[in-house]
Amino acid sequence: MLPMQRRSRSSGSETGSNQMRLTRASRYVRSVELIDVDELKAHGIRCVLVDRDNTLVPRDTKVAPTDVRAWLERLRQAHISVCMVSNNFHTDQVCASADDLGCAVVHHAMKPAPVAIQIALVTMGVPKEQTVLVGDQLFTDVVAGNLAGIRTILVRPQSRKDLWYTQLFRIAEQAFLGDVSFEGE
Ligand SMILES: [Mg+2]
Repeated sequence: MLPMQRRSRSSGSETGSNQMRLTRASRYVRSVELIDVDELKAHGIRCVLVDRDNTLVPRDTKVAPTDVRAWLERLRQAHISVCMVSNNFHTDQVCASADDLGCAVVHHAMKPAPVAIQIALVTMGVPKEQTVLVGDQLFTDVVAGNLAGIRTILVRPQSRKDLWYTQLFRIAEQAFLGDVSFEGE
């Protein structure tokens, strides 16, 4: 078990298949601001790669909540660097968010392909062992992190608003998640 890995109710389904391993996050937490910064630090995390849409910035309001901003500030104070890794094709909006939130950014990430994660690691100058990826989608964020060999934390989407194809993925996602329990729920 990885240091940050938490047992969930579904962890007993050890199918051993690659597919299951790729879609298994290291942790499941309700929202980013509930991820304890001191705990990350204690586990040697020096960099957080984080998804944008519905992880930091809700798709409905498009404004990062105060709690998210406070969490990012706690990361900064703990000297943990943050890089936004977003699939969103609207580069101007992604860069504006990264600028607003004080993050580095890799846009057009094409997750679940792991290339953007590897670019982010090089850009941030951190080894994968000291990095965690946080995101709200199993088939993009978690799979990308697993393919890149870094720890992952899956959070619940901040809003119910999603792109139409993401809504389809959510249905399959729920089937994969089963009865996984999220910390904070
Ligand atoms: Mg997202």
